[in-house]
Amino acid sequence: MSRTITRFAPSPTGQLHLGHAFAAKVAHDLALGSDGSFLLRFEDIDHTRVRTEYYDAIEDDLRWLGLDWQPPALRQSARTHAYATALETLREIGVAYPCFCTRREIEEEVARMTSAPHGPEGALYPGTCRKLTADEIAARLQQGAQAAWRLDATRASSLAGALTFNDLQHGIHRVDATLLGDVILARRDIGTAYHLAVVVDDAFQQVTHVTRGEDLLPSTHVHRLLQAMLGYPEPLYLHHRLVTDENGVRLAKRHDALSLRSLREQGARPSELLSRLAILTPTGNVAAP
Ligand code: GLU
Repeated sequence: MSRTITRFAPSPTGQLHLGHAFAAKVAHDLALGSDGSFLLRFEDIDHTRVRTEYYDAIEDDLRWLGLDWQPPALRQSARTHAYATALETLREIGVAYPCFCTRREIEEEVARMTSAPHGPEGALYPGTCRKLTADEIAARLQQGAQAAWRLDATRASSLAGALTFNDLQHGIHRVDATLLGDVILARRDIGTAYHLAVVVDDAFQQVTHVTRGEDLLPSTHVHRLLQAMLGYPEPLYLHHRLVTDENGVRLAKRHDALSLRSLREQGARPSELLSRLAILTPTGNVAAP
């Protein structure tokens, strides 16, 4: 058996809140419970949203909670070459295609279609640019058009064959490659995107157990497909419940009062917070202070 390696992967775009603390604790305890390693990864590819002060603030909050990670913390912004290499591989295999559509064009196309593909969170990319010929692509590029890159999910799925993933809480899932459609692998402005970066880095950091909120469970269908295409090992998964406020609303940056920073300023102690997280209700509710 390989040693358990987990990671906590926040974006430095705001203060950590109780939901992050719960996610970090789940990852930390799973690794440390079996003498493994708990890693920290900053998901900071979207430089338009990152604020530099949050790197230190996040590390400081984690230390305050006693959730020590094995250094160094990885920054995705330093790994663009690795994402470019992986994208190149996907292009060579023929499962990535350039997409020139604007958001507006996609919305208009979806509105025109009688049966546009839909996923768990609404309309999926209708596949417009998948049909472009090599000549059409060359012409657009020559006109100076910038392309994003999308996964050809159907083609990838037929190459990969049947896939599954195993979630410690939710059991074995059969991968539905088209659940999220032809997701973006590389945004035109930043040259990569969440799905590609997370899969490349989980393999690079040799993560054995990917723990994260259950809102990301649909993404795992895409991630398994990318892992198969890139020849990466299959990690185990644990999609945990989300921490919500007293009204059942998932915590977000707007819940300032539940940021670890505010709770600290109000005199909360780490042991109290961690024990409060340990007695979350099955739906993940925590009472506001
Ligand atoms: N950066 C993501 C988040 O903050 C985590 C993604 C992941 O764990 O795969 O929710």
